[in-house]
Formats: sequence, C-alpha cells, structure tokens
Amino acid sequence: MRKAYIAGNWKMNMCPSEAKAYAQDLLKAVKESGADVKMMVAPPFVSIPAVLDVLKDSPIIVAAQNMADHDSGAYTGEVSPLFLLDLGVKTVILGHSERRQYYGETSASINKKILLALKHGMEVIYCVGETLEQRESGKLEEVLTEQLQNGLKDVKAEDMDKIVIAYEPVWAIGTGKTATPEDADDAHLFIRKTIESLYSKDIAEKLIIQYGGSVKANNVKALMAKENIDGALVGGASLKVNDFLPILTYNK
Ligand code: PEP
Repeated sequence: MRKAYIAGNWKMNMCPSEAKAYAQDLLKAVKESGADVKMMVAPPFVSIPAVLDVLKDSPIIVAAQNMADHDSGAYTGEVSPLFLLDLGVKTVILGHSERRQYYGETSASINKKILLALKHGMEVIYCVGETLEQRESGKLEEVLTEQLQNGLKDVKAEDMDKIVIAYEPVWAIGTGKTATPEDADDAHLFIRKTIESLYSKDIAEKLIIQYGGSVKANNVKALMAKENIDGALVGGASLKVNDFLPILTYNK
C-alpha cells in the first residue's frame, strides 16, 4: 500500500515573512484537520529558514525546489545540497518543467543533480512530463521514456526508495487545464511499467507517482481515486491555506 504524498511547490512566491505567516497558519489548520497523508511544502531558498522555524518538528516536510549539481566551489548563484542539509532540508524537487523550459535543464543535467542528492541521502521528487505538442504528435511515451532513462541513469536499485516521480504534463501546469484522471492514470501506469523494466516489479509497485498540473480541491479526489496516482504536486493551489488544506485532507 502506497501512502498518499501531497506536496506544495511555491515556485517564486512568498518572501520569508509571508512564508513564515503561511507556515504558522498551515500548521494550525493541518493539526485541527487531522490530515493523514505525507505532506511537503517547497518554499523559495531564502524563505526556507523561516518556514523551518515553524515546521521543523511537525509532520510537514520542508523541501527545496532545486539545488546545484556540485557540493561547493565557483558556481555563482547556486545552492549546494550540503547547505540544504545543514539547514535540515532532506527533500528536493528536481527537473521541474520550468527548470527545463526556462533554464535549459535536460534529463542529463538533472541526472547529475539526482545522483548528487542521492549520494547525500536526500529524497528526490523528479518531475517528468510532455508538452502539448509532444502529446498531440503521439510522442508521450517516447518523451517519458527518455526522461526516465536518462534522468535516472546510474541510479541504483537500492536508492529507488528515495525517488518520487511527479508526472506533470507541461500543458496542465498553471493553465487551469487538468489531465483527465483516466489520461493521468494511463501516463502513471506507463511510468510504473517503465520503472519495472528498468528496475523490478517490486520497485515499480512501491514507487510513489504524484500527478501535477492544476490540481485543486475540486479535482483531487477523482485523481487520487485512480490506482496509479499516489499523490499530487500542487503549484498555484498550494499558495493559500484555504486552497491547500482541502487537498491535504481529500481523503477525510
Ligand atoms: C507545479 O508547479 O508543479 C504545478 C503543477 O503547478 P499548478 O498546480 O499551478 O498547475
């Protein structure tokens, strides 16, 4: 049985003071609601310490949205995984489509970061997904295969329990368009089968696959009802406690 894992990606929203106030409200709301899923929020780097002050000993994991592909050195503007670990951050989102689209990240460059994060024992949420053009030209499976094969290259079977896959069709991110639960489930099944062929049935069965792309209170239940959808990576609807809480408590 895979435990549901709901994560909030704040992207470039919420400065430290806003983030701290949000974290206090979220923690209170989560405690009162008795939410029973694995929960995570990923603030911008500079807001992480303020959020950790509030959520450190809580059930809500604090993650980073990205990290460097080196531990230290002359890499201006980058944030080392060691700095994240020093703060107490042990989870990182890697390969978000906005990183691929705007910052030139590729499955190969993301793979370097994944291997480094795993070397340090971090949990990785690895994002994959196709553009509308790729879907419409029938390339969905080809794109997912490339992203999984190259992004997870040299990841050892024993590290696969630290990997979460987030399936995020690019055309559904921040657009209000959601994949139908059936389409999302089909893509998740394809991902699970690909992981089975790369690793084993056991690893594929245990793999948590989140769906991301305009997840909201009004569609989360239908998505989560699907056999291969084990969680959600939520952007816009994670920015207000009133929007995020019903997603965290979809099963209540
Ligand atoms: C995301 O940023 O990963 C995302 C899925 O965004 P949204 O929920 O706003 O579509």
